[in-house]
Amino acid sequence: MENKSSKFIPIIGLEVHIELGTFSKMFCGCDTDHFIKKPNTLTCPVCLGLPGALPFANKKAIEDTVKLGIAFGCKINTFSKFDRKHYFYPDLPKGYQISQYDEPLCSSGDFEFPHSSGKLGTKTKIRIRRIHLEEDTAKLIHNEINKKKVTLVDFNRSGVPLVEMVTEPDFRNIEDVEKFLREVQLVVRYLGISSADMEKGSMRLEANVSLSNDAQKIPDYKVELKNINSFKFLKKAIKAELVRQEKILSSGKRIAQETRGYDEAKQDTYLQRVKEEEKDYRYFPEPDIPPVRIENEEIENIRKTMPELAAKKRERYSKEYKLPENYIEVLVQNIDRAKYFESAIELGHKHSLSVKMIAGAMINQHLDQKYEEPAGLVKNLVDLTKKVYASEKVVAKEVVKIVLQEKKAVQDYKSGKVNVIGFLVGAVQKELKGKGDPKLTRELLLESLKKS
Ligand code: ADP
Ligand code: MG
Ligand code: ZN
Repeated sequence: MENKSSKFIPIIGLEVHIELGTFSKMFCGCDTDHFIKKPNTLTCPVCLGLPGALPFANKKAIEDTVKLGIAFGCKINTFSKFDRKHYFYPDLPKGYQISQYDEPLCSSGDFEFPHSSGKLGTKTKIRIRRIHLEEDTAKLIHNEINKKKVTLVDFNRSGVPLVEMVTEPDFRNIEDVEKFLREVQLVVRYLGISSADMEKGSMRLEANVSLSNDAQKIPDYKVELKNINSFKFLKKAIKAELVRQEKILSSGKRIAQETRGYDEAKQDTYLQRVKEEEKDYRYFPEPDIPPVRIENEEIENIRKTMPELAAKKRERYSKEYKLPENYIEVLVQNIDRAKYFESAIELGHKHSLSVKMIAGAMINQHLDQKYEEPAGLVKNLVDLTKKVYASEKVVAKEVVKIVLQEKKAVQDYKSGKVNVIGFLVGAVQKELKGKGDPKLTRELLLESLKKS
């Protein structure tokens, strides 16, 4: 923690929203491509919230959420349901959002990720409270038309599948928060369920922050930091919030439970609103969508479609290939790069190319960018290793010369110091500027020594 003198310990829990990259929306057949389309062109009565329109759940979105749940060690619930969460805001035409309340798709997970200290093999473990599925809201665009301030509503985003992951308040420092979130992003990208792009809002973060004088004790208040769209700002916001809270606590006052935003110019958090109580949402089961039932067999089938994740690859690359950690990290940061590397190893194996050589060619020479296919990179490396050696006649001539020249070494060899052969091979190679086949050079030398 940055403030080492502090007698308080940061207690942090995260809420992460991820917009799924399915073709159609969560409860209707509309396209989800809301970034590139004209406003309000991807809509229908369901996602416009028109009375009488009937929603139906997107199967792919449910499967994607199950994948995420499996990846984070969650229990996948064979029974779950959708609920209505009520609040009144122009981005929500129905007056409620379809979400999941007491029976989410996934619950109680455990997740390990590389420790923020960066020390080899050390890991931090945090618990996942739940992962559920809901619908995204419409986008509000604040604008000025005819010198009047207006707010426009674009419903293209309304109803896009949104996953929410909630962690337990298990984080004790900002560095682990960042490590965890980067790992979430990596897992999501490996699974191919979202671009998890923060600038585009496909991944959105909220941090709940409090201070405790006991690492095991969770305070009875928390401040929720909202509307933060980069890792950098999240870290700054948490840091600023911890400073603010410490000042209040040190002066003996209590901290109000509220939602705050981050002001980059002031490098401080500011009050957005006093937090709603849970009961204000008036949750009740969504009557128009039947509960979701998933057989264990289906869960197993979904698991089988999942790729090997980065965490597993890190372990395997270290154990099987004995690669250094910084190499491994570069390779696993992108699933396509990792797959490229693995294919190259397989192809290279037939030509006795070492794993280190392939990794080096990718990381230091970026040959994977030059050769689109791993076969191209492997061929390049094989060609490099095939040296053009000098002819036997040329080597033989140098051998004779060296045996005559290096009288002392020859004498030593004959008196039993057989290691001298290495020196003699080196001497021949020097004359040949490295172009002698080492094996042939050695054979010819031994023959010549026998005769001399
Ligand atoms: P709410 O019902 O208000 O959403 P929850 O108890 O469900 O609150 O927790 C929401 C998030 O806040 C979770 O990520 C959780 O880990 C975190 N959290 C709960 N209590 C604290 C606390 N005292 N300090 C920091 N984070 C907390
Ligand atoms: Mg909350
Ligand atoms: Zn629609």
